[in-house]
Amino acid sequence: MVHRNAPVMDKKDKKCDVKDCENEAVRSFSMSNVKDIFSNFKDGNVKHVNLCKEHYKVYHKKTKEDRKLDHLRWAH
Ligand SMILES: [Zn+2]
Repeated sequence: MVHRNAPVMDKKDKKCDVKDCENEAVRSFSMSNVKDIFSNFKDGNVKHVNLCKEHYKVYHKKTKEDRKLDHLRWAH
């Protein structure tokens, strides 16, 4: 059952799963939490996605925004 040619997940060297992002991942999230925020992932079929610092910030802002929509308007 061991697939020797399968890519090895090196925990020390996780990359961000957002498409076209090559940054080092800092946090991991379940796909259901992030799929509404980021529409493109390198692999859309995974249950957990890793986010880099930058994308985590975006995620954080977005979830905050959703929770407190009328508290703080996103200024353009
Ligand atoms: Zn990223």
